Amino acid sequence: DKFRNGLEKTRNSFTGKVNDLVARYRKVDEDFFEELEEILIQADVGFETVLELVEELKNEVKRRNIKDPNDVQAVISEKLVDIYQSGDDSTNKLNLVEDGLTVILFVGVNGVGKTTTIGKLAHKFKQEGKKVLLAAGDTFRAGAIEQLEVWGERVGVDVIKQVEGSDPAAVMFDALQAAKSRNADILLCDTAGRLQNKVNLMKELEKVKRVIEREVPGAPHEVLIVLDATTGQNALIQAKTFKESTNVTGIVLSKLDGTAKGGIVLAIRNELKIPVKFVGLGEKVDDLQEFDAEKYVYGLFS
Ligand code: GDP
Repeated sequence: DKFRNGLEKTRNSFTGKVNDLVARYRKVDEDFFEELEEILIQADVGFETVLELVEELKNEVKRRNIKDPNDVQAVISEKLVDIYQSGDDSTNKLNLVEDGLTVILFVGVNGVGKTTTIGKLAHKFKQEGKKVLLAAGDTFRAGAIEQLEVWGERVGVDVIKQVEGSDPAAVMFDALQAAKSRNADILLCDTAGRLQNKVNLMKELEKVKRVIEREVPGAPHEVLIVLDATTGQNALIQAKTFKESTNVTGIVLSKLDGTAKGGIVLAIRNELKIPVKFVGLGEKVDDLQEFDAEKYVYGLFS
C-alpha cells in the first residue's frame, strides 16, 4: 500500500537496523538501549524525543519483564505510536466547514513542495465532489503563478491570480470574492516562501491572513505549513519560525519518500505539538496521504 511503498527508504535503513539490533543481542541490556538510541537519532527522531521514547521503553520492558530482544520490537512500535499520539489534543483531520466555504492557507519556504501539495489536495477535494478554487498568493517568486496554473489545469480547477509582483493581499481579496460568488466549497491559498527576508514575509502573511479573516468569518479554517522531510532538523527550525508569527494549525510533511530518516515525523509532532495532517509520498497527484500514526509505524515494521 501507499504508506509502505512511500516509506521504502526509511524501512530499508531504520527498520533494517532495528531488525539487525534485535537479531544480534541475546538479552535486553544497557548496551542494547544505547544502540537503539543511536539508531533512532540517526533516523532523525530528534534528541529529546529519543530520550523520552527510550525511557518509556525501558520502563515498559521492566514492567512486562521482557528478556528477549525479539519481544522488544512490538513494544518499540507501540511506543512510537504512543509518543506520536500523546498530548494530541487536535486531530489529523482537516477542519472543514460542513456547508459553506472552507479557506485553507498554505505557508512554507520555497521548494518544500507547497504548490505540489496544493495541487494534490485540490485533486482530492475535487474527487470528493467539492468545488475547489486556488489563490495564487505567491506573487514574488518567478514562475510560481504559472506553476500553480499548471496544477490547476492538471486537476481541473480554476486559479485566481494577478500579475507577478502584485500585492498578495489583493490577490487574496479577489480569490475570496470569487469563491463566495461561485459558491466554492474549498479555497486553497498559496503564499510566498522567501525566508531571506523573514520580517517582510511574516508581515505579508499577517496581512493576507487579516484579509481572509475579514472577508470570511471563522477563516482561515486551517493554516498548514508544508515541510520537506528530506531537510531533517532544518524543517523543525522553519516550522518554529513560522509558528512565531502565524497560528499554524497543521503540518504537511512532503517528500517522505525521499528520505531514509522518516523519524522526523515524530520529532516534528513531539517538539512542535502541531499535528501532521498529511504526508507527501511522491510527485504524482495521488501521492498525498492523510497521516495516521498507526499506519505509519505499521508500514515501517511490517
Ligand atoms: P514549492 O516551491 O514549495 O511550491 O515547491 P514545489 O511544489 O514546486 O516542489 C518542489 C519539488 O519537490 C518539485 O520538484 C516537486 O515535484 C517535488 N515534490 C513535492 N512534493 C513531493 C513529494 O511528496 N515527494 C517527492 N519525491 N517530491 C515532491
